Amino acid sequence: MSKPTVERVSVARIPNEYGEFLLHLYANSMDTKEHMALVLGDIAHAEEVLCRVHSECFTGDVLGSERCDCGEQLHRSQEKIAEEGRGIIVYLRQEGRGIGLSDKLRAYNLQDDGYDTVEANLMLGHQADARDYTVAALILQDLAVRSIRLLTNNPEKISELTKLGVDVKDRIGIEPRMINENNRTYLLTKIHRMNHLMNVGAVSRANG
Ligand SMILES: [Zn+2]
Repeated sequence: MSKPTVERVSVARIPNEYGEFLLHLYANSMDTKEHMALVLGDIAHAEEVLCRVHSECFTGDVLGSERCDCGEQLHRSQEKIAEEGRGIIVYLRQEGRGIGLSDKLRAYNLQDDGYDTVEANLMLGHQADARDYTVAALILQDLAVRSIRLLTNNPEKISELTKLGVDVKDRIGIEPRMINENNRTYLLTKIHRMNHLMNVGAVSRANG
């Protein structure tokens, strides 16, 4: 197989409540999806750029679903990037940890029957986490970022990106603020079964 590549096909200005972002849209040699980078400020050749590598979550990002913390993480990342005046959100089109929207919705029904996110994905014939970060690493390379500080609670994401050649200097955690009966099991599964770094006491105790 030839080496995977990305190509920037379009850039447009996207002003929103957090700031004046530029949206870079990429084509790539691995799939036909439109992966993107939302960029604020001057990041070319910069060190320790604040960066979130976010996997698309239609239900959380767009619908504000309380079943996960994706929407909150996306918005809080933009907020933190705006505070700092520069940064990047790489937006990967791998819905539902890579299993796609239709199986994610099936997994939700299994979760309503009492299975956790990991068990539900396995029952549908998927890995617990089917995400791939190759395109993210190539986009960061194309943007000529020298090193990043990654906004994540997921140590696996750091090791995957590091393996792909991204220089991750630090991790900035995003503790969930919106904890409720709909997402408590999901968050505890992330902590106990996927090694995510969050305050387990706060998740267990919070009322909402
Ligand atoms: Zn989500």
